[in-house]
Amino acid sequence: MTPAVPAVPVMALTGSSRPLAQLYDVALLDLDGVVYLGAEAVPGAAEHLAAAVGMGMRLGFVTNNAARSGRRVAEKLTRLGVPAEPTQVITSGQTAARVLAQRLPPGARVLVVGTEDFAEEIRQLGLTPVRAGTESVTGSVDGLLPGSLTGSVPGAATAPVAAVVQGYSPDTGWRDLAAACRAVRAGAWWVAANGDLTVPSVDGPLPGNGAFVDVVRRTTGSQPLITGKPEPSMHTECVDRTGAKRPLVVGDRMDTDIEGAARVGCPSMIVLTGVTSPVDLLGAAPHHRPTYLAADLSALLCAHPDVRGTSTGWSCLSWAVGAGEPLSLSGTGQPLDALRVLCVATWDSGVTSVCAADAEAAEALESLGIPQCGTTRPAAPGTSTRRHHESGHSRQNNEQETCSS
Ligand SMILES: [Mg+2]
Repeated sequence: MTPAVPAVPVMALTGSSRPLAQLYDVALLDLDGVVYLGAEAVPGAAEHLAAAVGMGMRLGFVTNNAARSGRRVAEKLTRLGVPAEPTQVITSGQTAARVLAQRLPPGARVLVVGTEDFAEEIRQLGLTPVRAGTESVTGSVDGLLPGSLTGSVPGAATAPVAAVVQGYSPDTGWRDLAAACRAVRAGAWWVAANGDLTVPSVDGPLPGNGAFVDVVRRTTGSQPLITGKPEPSMHTECVDRTGAKRPLVVGDRMDTDIEGAARVGCPSMIVLTGVTSPVDLLGAAPHHRPTYLAADLSALLCAHPDVRGTSTGWSCLSWAVGAGEPLSLSGTGQPLDALRVLCVATWDSGVTSVCAADAEAAEALESLGIPQCGTTRPAAPGTSTRRHHESGHSRQNNEQETCSS
């Protein structure tokens, strides 16, 4: 498939003298951990998105979560103060259903491990969703009930399925996973809406669809076809639907949102309201490094300071990192700007231990959760992409309010 997203050079962690909402015409927004956390909106998200729209930016919503239909996601967004139409929402459930319908004959039976909304997406494309039965827990064959999920069809209980599809559901249990394992071992085609190991919550990361997929993978030794992010089809469809000329992917996961953006050459912004921590960012592989770094969606509304190479290391506004091992952070300012310069220093040098040269730097490291003079995470070999003496791009004009607060 040829991505429709315009291929542009993407530089990891750069600055912008203009607010991103003016620089990019459409934000392709991930939802869990970006706009909402479970049932609650991320604080300020609705106001920040409304302000971005007021600056001319349009919004598309691209979620790897297959638990809700596009219509129900739009309803949830609207309820949380982010007005949205179903056509603005692309879910991994829609993408998985489309992939299944493209390759299976009409009416083919598909074992659904996921929500009723997900089963409905599959039914709407002419396939027959079925469920793991409950009449046998330890027998050799679990019955497979038809997709209405409210009753059985005579003679249908043990018929084989053409495919197994998995999407996130908080109600997935042992019987669902056991039925999936049996069907995969019997030769059914196995599709997963996404491979996210976790979903963000107000209590921290909790098991995501990828964790359930992993159960089936380990049990059967098979591998599923994964249709959601970081595969390019969802972002590509969002660009097609919105007619975006300068899209910006916004997400909280490096291995789905940011990698997905990188695969289609689209700039990306990571927010720290979801599953990614500052320490995670320091250890990011090259294809997981975002174009912009943000505390939250307010970063769409302002300019971003640049990180530049100096004769002794790197700097960002009033923060500096001295080259060497460990890296030495000094200066003053907002912790987020300290994180910007630390990311570039770590990615360039491959050095992962950081020390504070003064009290304010120590305070910044503590607030970011970065252990001082400790190894955060080994960088992948050969990941250095920028030399610390290279002048690179010059510091941006920061007349605009920057995203340091
Ligand atoms: Mg997310």
